[in-house]
Amino acid sequence: MARRIIYLDNAATTPVYKEVVREIDYYSTKEYGNPSSPHYLGENALKAINDSRKKLAAEIGAKAHEIIFVSGGTEANNMALMGIAPIKTGKNKIFVSAIEHSSIYESAQYLKVLGYDVREIPVDKEGLIDLEKLEEAIDDKTLFISVMHANNEIGVIQNLRAIGVLCKKKGVLFHTDAVQSFGKERINIGEIGVDLLSASAHKISGPKGVGFIYAREGIEIKPLIIGGGQEAGRRGGTENVPGIMGFAKALEITRKINREKVRKLKDYLILRLKKIGGKINGSIEKRMYNNVNISFRDVDAEQLVLYLSQKGVMCSTRSACLSKQQKENRVLKALGLNEEEIKGSLRLVLNEFITRRDIDYVVKEIEKFLKKQQSNF
Ligand code: PLP
Repeated sequence: MARRIIYLDNAATTPVYKEVVREIDYYSTKEYGNPSSPHYLGENALKAINDSRKKLAAEIGAKAHEIIFVSGGTEANNMALMGIAPIKTGKNKIFVSAIEHSSIYESAQYLKVLGYDVREIPVDKEGLIDLEKLEEAIDDKTLFISVMHANNEIGVIQNLRAIGVLCKKKGVLFHTDAVQSFGKERINIGEIGVDLLSASAHKISGPKGVGFIYAREGIEIKPLIIGGGQEAGRRGGTENVPGIMGFAKALEITRKINREKVRKLKDYLILRLKKIGGKINGSIEKRMYNNVNISFRDVDAEQLVLYLSQKGVMCSTRSACLSKQQKENRVLKALGLNEEEIKGSLRLVLNEFITRRDIDYVVKEIEKFLKKQQSNF
């Protein structure tokens, strides 16, 4: 009999809801029109994606036409930086936080090569932006600031509202990568004062390969993909109709989740792991309801992940995009962790299907592994 999987890698991706699969099926086999086609199947498809656009926009307090559908969080983040930077403003300084996802970090590196003055905003040992340092660093050459909402590795949630106030005061554009928090944490773009925001469907049990970028009305943003004039000329290519419909359906379902129940289980997991020597990385209070990132001494967490995988437990040490690359862990390094703490760090991200029994099993297996490995050190 197949072993039940305990899936604790929900920052990497999430299982797609059955209702979402049905929606994708319907818009792939029944209402399969191209939204740009003139006949009624095309009109139906256009109407359907615009309904989804409205629902997704409403979640963050935006207007429907401020939502541009793209292929996911990576494209949204690339577009935020590379679509804004070339706009002629006479400003060329760009700030990104030290703990951004690689899709922001690499875009910033690319802009640096093109001659932009790219600066990193440091975080404290809790993983939070130092607002005073940021305020001091912003000058009249600053075009753009990108600070993520919830971090994908340590789950830390930034005070976006304070950053938004600062950006407004200084006349700087503000982008946030909300890929990990969209549909899970409350976001209101008006309250935050954000100009651009990225979201992705597969982090809320929607399909992979679809997301959006919110661009505040009046913001000029250059398309990265041209041809066809879709998305009001801001993103070429036939829209991913089934994906967009699945995204809106996933949002509808995910909003009903009992997050308090998950939060309590996360707290229970932290408590149990601390008792066996774990040290939590990132702020405990300003953190996603489902994220545990913990370091163990004298442990190679990569091996722990493989051991747990054999035991039916899926988790990771870091962002899925980087786990196959030998690159250093920028995020934990930015928090000031030493090599040993980074090597021994494990990320466990819960969902609503996890039970207390699952947690007890996982802790027992981690404990077994720790005993074995620590005795070999
Ligand atoms: N930003 C963050 C914070 C993420 O966690 C991810 C995915 O891991 C992305 C961006 C990229 O999103 P996608 O996988 O939809 O390209």
